[in-house]
Amino acid sequence: MIIDCHGHYTTAPRQHEGWRNEQIAAHNAGKPSPPRPRMTDDEIRETIVGGQLKVQRERGTDLTIFSPRAAGMGHHLGDASTSEAWASACNELIHRVCSLFPKNFIGVAMLPQSARVSPKNCIPEIDRCVNEYGFVGINLNPDPSGGHWQDPPLSDRYWYPVYEKMVEYDIPAMIHVSAACNPAYHTTGSHYLNGDTVGFNQLMTSSVFKDFPTIKFIVPHGGGAVPYHWGRFRGLAQDAKLGLLSDLVLRNIFFDTCVYHLPGQELLAKVIPVDNILFASEMIGAVRGIDPETGHHYDDTKRYIDQLPLLTDDKAKIFEGNARRVYGRLSGMIERQSATAA
Ligand SMILES: [Zn+2]
Repeated sequence: MIIDCHGHYTTAPRQHEGWRNEQIAAHNAGKPSPPRPRMTDDEIRETIVGGQLKVQRERGTDLTIFSPRAAGMGHHLGDASTSEAWASACNELIHRVCSLFPKNFIGVAMLPQSARVSPKNCIPEIDRCVNEYGFVGINLNPDPSGGHWQDPPLSDRYWYPVYEKMVEYDIPAMIHVSAACNPAYHTTGSHYLNGDTVGFNQLMTSSVFKDFPTIKFIVPHGGGAVPYHWGRFRGLAQDAKLGLLSDLVLRNIFFDTCVYHLPGQELLAKVIPVDNILFASEMIGAVRGIDPETGHHYDDTKRYIDQLPLLTDDKAKIFEGNARRVYGRLSGMIERQSATAA
């Protein structure tokens, strides 16, 4: 089985994001939110059959761990109540996709975060998504201010209510920022990779893994700058008397393979132990074009893994085994959703 642990619903029916724009406009005008739009099962099916499902089939992958569009989370917009209503609408839509295509999609939740609002407010949505929808993870935004970094670092006890829930439910968090509202950043070019790198560095120098020995984080986009600069982080850990970097982080931090060229994948697989790498493509996402050097889509990351000089067993870990281990509820959900499909 080939499990892509990083996919967003970037193709949702137009009225979904349309409602979000109206919701924020109403909030800014001091008016109540308009009612949520209607979306039929057929409309949802159409966006998936011609979108993510088509790509799964073309590329030979089986299952996508699926969450709301990351750039669309927009935690810097509106306030805590608009974030709650928006997260609720987005997660419900993911649940509908997973119910319509139970063999191909399993859900991960976006959280109703808001800049400078305690993430305690995310707990009811986490409970709902795990207990009612069977979601197997969360996306945690380390910078709900959208590029201004106004919240405490992930090392701070500020985030502990979310960490407690992650451990209680055995669900990992993917560290994933949303759109940048700071013009210094390009959302997917620099803000995303920066968010990955910042999140890793905050956790590495923290006592989070002492306080939560079983907690798991996925650093997406190949780990941002981390694998490429592994020596720098090793040296920083050593200078700070934190011990060996591998001892410090590799029980708790995992890296996905959303790296869009072969040399990058080769580096990732050379630097990071195979047990800490999870297959992912983030299709249909930030980079949709075809690489003229290869003639294939940049985000067809399976092609790069196929070319790595790894043992078959090691590739199976990257494609399947590690995801089942890191997402503690995944194997159970695969069985439950397959039974529904049958
Ligand atoms: Zn993403």
